[in-house]
Amino acid sequence: MSSARKPDWLKMRPPSGREFADIRETLRERDLNTVCEEANCPNLGECWSGGAGTGSGEGGTATFMLMGHRCSRACNFCDVETGGMEPLDPDEPANVADAIAEIGLDYVVLTSVDRDDLPDQGAGHFAETIREIKDRHPGILVEVLIPDFQGEERLVRKIIDADPDVIAHNVETVERLQFPVRDRRAGYEQSLGVLEQVDRESDIYTKTSIMLGHGEYDHEVYQTLADCRDRGVDIVTLGQYLRPSRDHLEVQRYDHPEKYDTWRRVAEEELDFLYCASGPMVRSSYKAGELFVDAVLR
Ligand code: SF4
Ligand code: SF4
Repeated sequence: MSSARKPDWLKMRPPSGREFADIRETLRERDLNTVCEEANCPNLGECWSGGAGTGSGEGGTATFMLMGHRCSRACNFCDVETGGMEPLDPDEPANVADAIAEIGLDYVVLTSVDRDDLPDQGAGHFAETIREIKDRHPGILVEVLIPDFQGEERLVRKIIDADPDVIAHNVETVERLQFPVRDRRAGYEQSLGVLEQVDRESDIYTKTSIMLGHGEYDHEVYQTLADCRDRGVDIVTLGQYLRPSRDHLEVQRYDHPEKYDTWRRVAEEELDFLYCASGPMVRSSYKAGELFVDAVLR
């Protein structure tokens, strides 16, 4: 299928409703960023208006993006701004914990930009935010989507020691396409190493995400799933790459929703992932809470 024509199944629901406005106001008041907005996530209308998302119930869902809205890397698929790094906000961990109480979340997703500019690449700030949330809201489930920390095990360990419930790190695409899709500082083996370390050093659930639509072959997708499973990854999501602007990589292919169903069956039934969320609009945090609770806690 041509990259020029977006199929009907990718039509987005525009953000609206009281929950959407309330969440946005809470985030603005506390100067907090979400990946939902920064990455122009196609599910924003659905998640923020309640119902879908991370299982937060009636309050809707948001994925917090820590450490600013500018990234030290420049992945060719990503809509987050690059460069001009800002100092860390020391109040951010407490502000995120406050916002969670105000919005009424019971499963929270935290992610961050990459901060290669900082001595600890932001691992300490990330860990402090997890602890702040867990201390103030015992019982809340925390999923973190972390950078690769350039493969530095001592930095990944800071996140493990903060004891979130799920640690996600995305391989993003198949091995052959890591570059041009990702920044050159990222890499397939480096990302698998992060996931393997979490599996080796803790009982924390591990998760990764793969985008389809960059020109990968089926056997490469299968191999990527198998490699992740081999490194102990428990949960996987697959979704369609959407081009954020003309400055980003072109979409090479739109796969039909039935193809995503096939990948879900392969991941769950053949490769024995705990669960797989797979669909054109699925993103790493899509229905993260609902699916985790269904698969793990029920
Ligand atoms: Fe935000 Fe994740 Fe929902 Fe996208 S899928 S709007 S990033 S919570
Ligand atoms: Fe985007 Fe890449 Fe930065 Fe992640 S590391 S926020 S994917 S530019």
